[in-house]
Amino acid sequence: MDIAKGLHSPLRKFRGGVPADHQKNAADIPLQSIPVPGTVAIALSQSIGAPCSPLVAVGDHVYAGQKIGDSDKTISAPVHASVSGKVIAVGEIVLSNGIKCQGITIESDGKREDCPDISPPVIESLEDFLNAVRESGLVGMGGAGFPTHAKLRSALKSEPAVDTLIINAAECEPYICVDNRECMEYPQNIINGIRALVQWIGFKQVIIGVEDNKPKGLERLLNCLGEECNADMDIKVSSLHSRYPQGAEKMMIYVTTGRIVPIGKLPSDVGCVVMNVETCSVIGRYLRTGRPVISRSITVDGDAIDGPYNLRVPIGTSIQDIIDYCGGFTEPPYKIILGGPMMGLALSDTTAPICKQNNAILAFRQTSISRLVKWDCIRCGRCVEACPMGLVPEKLERYARYRNVEKLKELNVMACMECGSCAFHCPGNRSLVQYMKMGKQLIREEAQKNVN
Ligand code: SF4
Ligand code: SF4
Repeated sequence: MDIAKGLHSPLRKFRGGVPADHQKNAADIPLQSIPVPGTVAIALSQSIGAPCSPLVAVGDHVYAGQKIGDSDKTISAPVHASVSGKVIAVGEIVLSNGIKCQGITIESDGKREDCPDISPPVIESLEDFLNAVRESGLVGMGGAGFPTHAKLRSALKSEPAVDTLIINAAECEPYICVDNRECMEYPQNIINGIRALVQWIGFKQVIIGVEDNKPKGLERLLNCLGEECNADMDIKVSSLHSRYPQGAEKMMIYVTTGRIVPIGKLPSDVGCVVMNVETCSVIGRYLRTGRPVISRSITVDGDAIDGPYNLRVPIGTSIQDIIDYCGGFTEPPYKIILGGPMMGLALSDTTAPICKQNNAILAFRQTSISRLVKWDCIRCGRCVEACPMGLVPEKLERYARYRNVEKLKELNVMACMECGSCAFHCPGNRSLVQYMKMGKQLIREEAQKNVN
């Protein structure tokens, strides 16, 4: 197939953003599976939603893929054992963000023996499909962690009906390469996932958005689509301008469709569902195999690690086990980040387990991290120019410091997606994102007070 045939290059660009240094060092490194870890700690809270209750007890034998936690709440997703072995603890574990939650620790038997019940789901109706997506344990694998079945159910209720599925393979955060590897190594799973979503949810058009700095991923997808492009399904592969945060939902929707999601509204309010490419790939794989989400892809990079790597790791593997597999640190790291450098979380310790929505571990030496002195705001307005949401970060920072909730609401701090573009451009090196987070938290606390 002529590669250019299915390719679509939108002329629209979103406002603001950052020309981030992409550093896609792992782009050409194939995904490899790490050896089965000695223990895994499966968090019972791995989604934005209700935590699961344990379905196993200490001493139980579990198989890989066996459901070990579930909830009857609408917004929740079950969790599954990622290795076979013995449950050695059910109790509190500490997640990478320092939050404590309930978890199940499994001592691996080293075999990673699959659960005998695993088989492809039988799908004869929309309800079967939604139940299958739920049973797979799928949550947004791009970092959002929202249960996918709940997102689809909510989209089905929207007025007007959703008509557009956008598969987000932009991967605009520097360093991270796992979505690109998914496009290069498992395009058929992605297309099978799209087929099922089109069949059962009824999307009229599908747009796969990939930044133009990932030509091999684009080419692989287009080759796999082959004659299917515009045959029985309207699928476009969209080559997007490489600019951070191209992969943010509202940016993706605007550049690929021209639709603008108003502040406070959801993508489904403008007829769109945006799904991360690995999330879509998991749907395709689950429908074919019945294997739930028990592992995920992680990029490991940074100059304090002898890498880079793209790894498949069982959910619940400790961050330290992954670093050890990569040969440890080349020198004591000054900063370790879970996720990308723009939106990731700096880690204070590496014992926390990998959850479904984590996609990178980066470790940097002191020499590569600038120790930036903070200066007073000089009202230069660069943060305003950089904000893709049209916010005024310098004012929001001030009102968060003054704890002025009314002003924070008036200036729409809740619309902030914490992308960090404002801080990136600030010549005063001000901690703008931290104040945006603080401002949002103040509004949540006030809302909670009013409920009580
Ligand atoms: S970019 Fe920094 S210095 Fe400039 S107005 Fe914004 S907060 Fe102030
Ligand atoms: S205010 Fe929020 S959305 Fe705007 S640039 Fe800063 S972090 Fe991004």
